[in-house]
Amino acid sequence: MLAYKYVSKGDFRLVQTHKPQLIEKRDAIVKVTLASICSSDLHIKHGSVPRAKEGITVGHEMVGMVEEVGEDVKNIKAGDRVTVNVETFCGECFFCKHGYVNNCTDDNGGWAMGCRIDGGQAQYVRVPFADTGLNKIPDAVTDEQALFTGDILATGFWAARISEIKSDDTVLIIGAGPTGICTLLCVMLKKPKRIIMCEKDENRIKFINSHYPEVLTVSPNDVEEFTMKNSDHGGADVVIEVAGTENTFQTAWKCARANAIVTVVALYDKPQTLPLPLMYGKNLTFKTGGVDGCDCEEILKLIENGSIDTTPLITHTVTLSDIEKGYDIFENRKDNVIKVAVKCN
Ligand SMILES: [Zn+2]
Ligand SMILES: [Zn+2]
Repeated sequence: MLAYKYVSKGDFRLVQTHKPQLIEKRDAIVKVTLASICSSDLHIKHGSVPRAKEGITVGHEMVGMVEEVGEDVKNIKAGDRVTVNVETFCGECFFCKHGYVNNCTDDNGGWAMGCRIDGGQAQYVRVPFADTGLNKIPDAVTDEQALFTGDILATGFWAARISEIKSDDTVLIIGAGPTGICTLLCVMLKKPKRIIMCEKDENRIKFINSHYPEVLTVSPNDVEEFTMKNSDHGGADVVIEVAGTENTFQTAWKCARANAIVTVVALYDKPQTLPLPLMYGKNLTFKTGGVDGCDCEEILKLIENGSIDTTPLITHTVTLSDIEKGYDIFENRKDNVIKVAVKCN
């Protein structure tokens, strides 16, 4: 079969390889119909994910059809159309039982697929712990509609959930990339009084303005002043930082009002400074880290009933044999790209 592999730093390659087989009793083999390219794939390519293993198939956001399941898989069967979760989790350890599935203590717990074990930019993928890692897609939901459920939409949903958003809040989201937009869609479900999106890319601002006209947009240069002016208590009640660039962490806490919640979903290339003396008395609550992808069933229901629609994010579609072209478009932000879908079969 065809698979797109991380050969070494800076070198991803499409190769012919053997089809994966069941290894553990809780595994499933999924025939991938649609996968997508994520900025985390680029982080691996650029060598900034130290735990990524050379030689693995990349890709951790995909949907497909179950082909075969191990003997201990209970809820999933061959023929099921499924989304694949970015995280592998056993469902049984302390962290899994508390919903902290990112911290599952299994050897493959957390983000393993497309990083430490073979992922889904391929014709087939082996999914460990299939009962927790796969969710059946409702019949009325298309592959395109379900594509982002297991990764960027799960991240946005989790970010919105832990941010404790209330109806009279002003919520500032920093970064209108694919994950920022998914975060926006999930924040909108909470119906806060105001949502402000901060983004430097003109095309992304245009995308937000045309698809979500009720959302206020602002560039990073003006965000502090704008947020003060467009909030009720001298800053945003909730700030969600999704951008992860040079100054965005500082922007996040500066735009927050006293006693606000600042949720940091972004992955930074470099350490960030927490200037506690400057923050003293502002009494902020910081929530940080990586997604707990345990809300996929609920997300699929919200897609099914029309509350979440991420299809406008798929700006480009390529076939697996043309995946290099997809990476070129995504990596170099060509042609106003937001997300690239990859048809794998
Ligand atoms: Zn991702
Ligand atoms: Zn676990």
